[in-house]
Amino acid sequence: MTNKIINIFTNETDISLETKSELTKILVDKGYTVTEESRDNADLIICIGGDGAFLETIHSCKFPQSPIIGINTGHLGFFQEISPDCLEQFIKDYENGQYSIQDLSTVEATVTLLDGRSNMHLGLNEIIIKGRQSYAIHFGLSIDGKPLERFSGDGILVATSSGSTAYNYSLGGSIVDPRLDLLQVTPIAPMNTTAYRSFTSSILLPAEISLEIFPEQEDNRIFILNDGIETGYSNVKDIKVEVSDTMVHLMRFKNYDFWNKVKTKFL
Ligand code: NAD
Repeated sequence: MTNKIINIFTNETDISLETKSELTKILVDKGYTVTEESRDNADLIICIGGDGAFLETIHSCKFPQSPIIGINTGHLGFFQEISPDCLEQFIKDYENGQYSIQDLSTVEATVTLLDGRSNMHLGLNEIIIKGRQSYAIHFGLSIDGKPLERFSGDGILVATSSGSTAYNYSLGGSIVDPRLDLLQVTPIAPMNTTAYRSFTSSILLPAEISLEIFPEQEDNRIFILNDGIETGYSNVKDIKVEVSDTMVHLMRFKNYDFWNKVKTKFL
């Protein structure tokens, strides 16, 4: 018997709910304490659903320090690894320590307003900075304190390595092996004119380098999206985007192969 606490989160699809009851029964029979409330002291967090459910779990648990594993009941999941047909094997491998922990980097954006107040947003996939509705946004972009470009267009996306296969990829950004720690800055529909010049491809920055964005004050409404969660701001002085100290500790089992997953999903 064990005295471990397992925290289970699920989306509301039929298959996820069925998987949750089956898994809960197996775990309770083995003596685990199973809870659906977010617990700081959980030994393991299990998320049942697709990548969206995984991101939601990470955000609702405020980027937990406990290891997390995903059971995939959606389409091919990038974060989700375990098939709902293999629950017994998964628990056996877990109990025998047949897994590794992949520490995933996250990206943070600190928004500072003209009155000095500031707010921070954390993303596992990406941070997006865009204008209101379909208006173009205009800003200066500096890297490590040095001005690089003047941007005009729909916005920019700053992806982590593990977020590179999400929205970043749809925008023409590169797929990054999650073992590389970097930030990928991908423009969203950049408009190059005589007044505004910016790169039209993604640029890659080492993890220790930050970028700053200085919106033009005519753009008085700016949106930040962290993993799709949108927050609107007015009177923004600057936005600093950098790799965060927070990490997500994703459990990986022996059959996990990033490039095979990429091949299966995209080719
Ligand atoms: P959603 O329901 O719109 O799902 C978006 C898709 O992105 C799903 O198919 C999901 O499996 C996939 N996805 C999410 N993270 C991924 C990753 N790291 N690698 C590969 N695929 C991934 O939105 P959601 O489920 O709430 O997820 C939010 C994420 O959706 C955002 O972080 C963003 O990256 C992504 N998104 C993508 C597009 C696009 O590709 N055009 C547009 C908006 C949002």
